[in-house]
Amino acid sequence: MEKLESYYTLPDCLNRTFSCSCGKIHRAELKAAVIGKNVLEKLPVWLHKNNYRKVYLVCDRVTVDIAGKKAQAYMEDAGIDVQLQVITHAAYDEMTVGELLIHMSRDRDVVIGVGTGSINDMCRYFSYKCDKPYGIVATAAPMDGFASGISALTVDNLKTTFAVRAPELIVGDTEILKNAPCAMNSAGLGDLIGKFTCLCDWKLSHRITGEYYCGSITDMVSKCSKNVLDHAGRVKERDPKVLGHIMEGLVFTGVAMSMVGNSRPASGCEHHISHYWETIFEQRGDRPAPHGHQVGVGTILILKLTEELLRMERIDFENARKAAKLYDPEVWKKEIRRAYGPAAQGVIKIEEEAQKNETGRRLKRIDYMEKHWKELTELLRELPSSGRIIELMTEMEAPCLPGQIGVDADLLRDTLVYCKEIRARYTILQMLWDLELLRPLTERLVEEIF
Ligand SMILES: [Zn+2]
Ligand SMILES: [Zn+2]
Repeated sequence: MEKLESYYTLPDCLNRTFSCSCGKIHRAELKAAVIGKNVLEKLPVWLHKNNYRKVYLVCDRVTVDIAGKKAQAYMEDAGIDVQLQVITHAAYDEMTVGELLIHMSRDRDVVIGVGTGSINDMCRYFSYKCDKPYGIVATAAPMDGFASGISALTVDNLKTTFAVRAPELIVGDTEILKNAPCAMNSAGLGDLIGKFTCLCDWKLSHRITGEYYCGSITDMVSKCSKNVLDHAGRVKERDPKVLGHIMEGLVFTGVAMSMVGNSRPASGCEHHISHYWETIFEQRGDRPAPHGHQVGVGTILILKLTEELLRMERIDFENARKAAKLYDPEVWKKEIRRAYGPAAQGVIKIEEEAQKNETGRRLKRIDYMEKHWKELTELLRELPSSGRIIELMTEMEAPCLPGQIGVDADLLRDTLVYCKEIRARYTILQMLWDLELLRPLTERLVEEIF
């Protein structure tokens, strides 16, 4: 079997299986990604090649006009039977799954979604449950979820992720992408910038908890985000070539997720911040900011917390041990019920299974950190500065601070202290909590920002 090399790019990885020095066999499930000018025309070619004749084409009220009808026309001209379904429910939850199921005729042999984040998540989940192949026509590139094998839906009021299946095809027509609102393109950049903190989380976890880690995939993903950072100035001009690069970077991150088998290469504490905001905004009946903007703001917050940590002259490991021994799961549950409202039960269940806050494990991690503190801070120092990211996002007219996306001081405080509980994953925030520094550094940051 061929060995995965860290200099590989997206086309090198598609529909292939690799051995790897991390010990895992990596398989990129995505069979095809067509990114470029006017590539929507090629959709029927791919369908014919795979013998798909009856398409369930899923759009929402907006994407149907952006690309849905155009895709339908290309397919029908090529003799393909298209059933168009326009989603009417606004929330991507149990209701929408039901809506898609009720209307689909039983003879469909492929599902094609038209849109971005939520539509892609929903169609991927739906097609997996119906055991049908799936492809997505992107109308914008605001996030990296295109190629992942994971779907996030709202179930019982809580944003929940499901292991499903990666799509077989991704169409990224730059003539469509360039007409996407500027905010969507800057959101895509925000999501890519989040890779800096998420990859740092993975490295930290590998050292501190012994979690599985792949250096080649980490290198490949971080190269994409650095690459796109270098071209960031031209996104504003909607240069289709640069948009193609961004799309490719976002698709590649998703491919990396499917190669690893979870979202580790794409999602860390900056995403937990975003998941928490989404959960709370949904409970309040408010519309949250686009995913990539939340991740961009979340990344800046994590970078600022990290900078605070690195400014500290001395870490009081003894104090951390004392706090670990005083930890009371009942008190913690009470705080979670307040911070998560109706979503608390799911969060409590996550911790009951993961036991990441449990005293014995925390003490072990504190011991490790005390012994290896210098090399751990070196990892943190590899992160870009918050100032550089703020400058970039400002230039893109994207939000940088919580207040710009409807997050006030109280919500920010709860976010930084409790969002880590939304997943059983070791991150910089869990590290700060372990060290008993999460609250004091959060207070300092909230004061600085508000
Ligand atoms: Zn993301
Ligand atoms: Zn590997």
